[in-house]
Amino acid sequence: MAKKSLFDMTPVTGYEKKLEDFFPMERRCSNCLGCKFVPFEKIKSNRFGRNCPSVWYYNFNLYSARGRFQLGQNIIEDGYVGWEGQALDAIFNCQACGACDVACKVTRFNLEPLAHNIALKERAVEKGKAPVELKAMAAQLEKQKSMLPDAKKADRAKWAAGLKLKDLSSAKETAEYAFFPGCQYAYDPDLAKKAKTYVKVLLKGGVDLGYLGKGDMCCGGRAKQTGFRKEFEAEAKANAEIWKKAGIKKIVTPCSDCYHAIKRQYALLGIDVEVVHAVELIADLVKQGKLKFKKRVDLSVTYHDPCHLGRLGEPFIPWNGTEKKILNQVHTWQPARPRYAGTDGIYDAPREILEAIPGVRLIEMERVRENSWCCGAGGGCSVFNPEYSDAIASERVTEAQTTGAEAIVTACPWCEINLSGVESENGTFMDVVDIVELVAKAL
Ligand code: SF4
Ligand code: SF4
Repeated sequence: MAKKSLFDMTPVTGYEKKLEDFFPMERRCSNCLGCKFVPFEKIKSNRFGRNCPSVWYYNFNLYSARGRFQLGQNIIEDGYVGWEGQALDAIFNCQACGACDVACKVTRFNLEPLAHNIALKERAVEKGKAPVELKAMAAQLEKQKSMLPDAKKADRAKWAAGLKLKDLSSAKETAEYAFFPGCQYAYDPDLAKKAKTYVKVLLKGGVDLGYLGKGDMCCGGRAKQTGFRKEFEAEAKANAEIWKKAGIKKIVTPCSDCYHAIKRQYALLGIDVEVVHAVELIADLVKQGKLKFKKRVDLSVTYHDPCHLGRLGEPFIPWNGTEKKILNQVHTWQPARPRYAGTDGIYDAPREILEAIPGVRLIEMERVRENSWCCGAGGGCSVFNPEYSDAIASERVTEAQTTGAEAIVTACPWCEINLSGVESENGTFMDVVDIVELVAKAL
């Protein structure tokens, strides 16, 4: 393949779609290493100044976004490195958390490290180089429409037993919102109880709610994060078809992974459906006085921003422009390309809920909002590399403990599972609470 220079104009007709589209980007990375740290003006201490779980854990530049840009260049363009060994290790041990993307955009407007990391995974998957655990996960998605290993399609609706939810599957009943629980809430017995609580809270607030019962499926978001693009797209299209048949136009989900997948990744495929996270609806209902907190919940908490609700929860903005060089050296996009800097994610709604509950005291961690530290479950890493995933979670629990709060609150089942039962660096644990549990206690 002919090499492209840093200054080659590579017109793209949309967002980069395949690894080769990223070649100019790989070469334009300036090796500033900003992608390894919380943006400098936001760092509050040396102890919690790092942002990339991967390079923090492996302590080797290859495992940073910069390292992966270089790897892309070496492996594809230059052919110095093969699809094997440590190259593959670095490719798959990216949490796809997007912290590098936010940090890089502080000084650079034309690089997309997260999308590049995922493009590397996609090419490795195409070459059959994914870890066996991830291959099994993708096969399970195809067979049982879930990426959880023990999930059975036939058991999909068990979580909702006893709920009075409209059945939207036959299109005989209609509702403003379809409740989309996501696999963790549908299959994990503890989380299933919390899914029920979400439904009860939304119904109490007067939301017109239904669900698809056994017709529900996985959003496929994990397939996208782990590089199984074909499988993700098949799942997204199948979901879109079912929703269309059922007349569903609005979805509410309590899962941050599903939220990101539908909001950003489905939109990129041209699937037009409105999605909100349950915390957005609950916060609105509280503001409108339709949900009233009557009981005190005396608890000091710290809020963990899930990556896929926070920095990756920004809305998709269509763009179909081209790159243009001006003054014979400056690369610009015409029209201006959307710049996902993480700041428009869902940050306020969960905090407004917590602040409205009498007795709850919110104490913030150092790494919050778009600079939040990942829980460790991202990019499928908890499936094939649990030791690494636990170390990332332990780092977050340690940070949470420094606030002096009694519990960590979150709004994502993946974060909840990954942070629960993990020791901090001093060997102690923290309670991890789903935000809906506090809401239900206070009503
Ligand atoms: S990816 Fe961005 S932040 Fe990281 S070294 Fe390259 S230019 Fe700097
Ligand atoms: S997506 Fe997360 S884990 Fe992967 S390189 Fe970026 S910051 Fe590191």
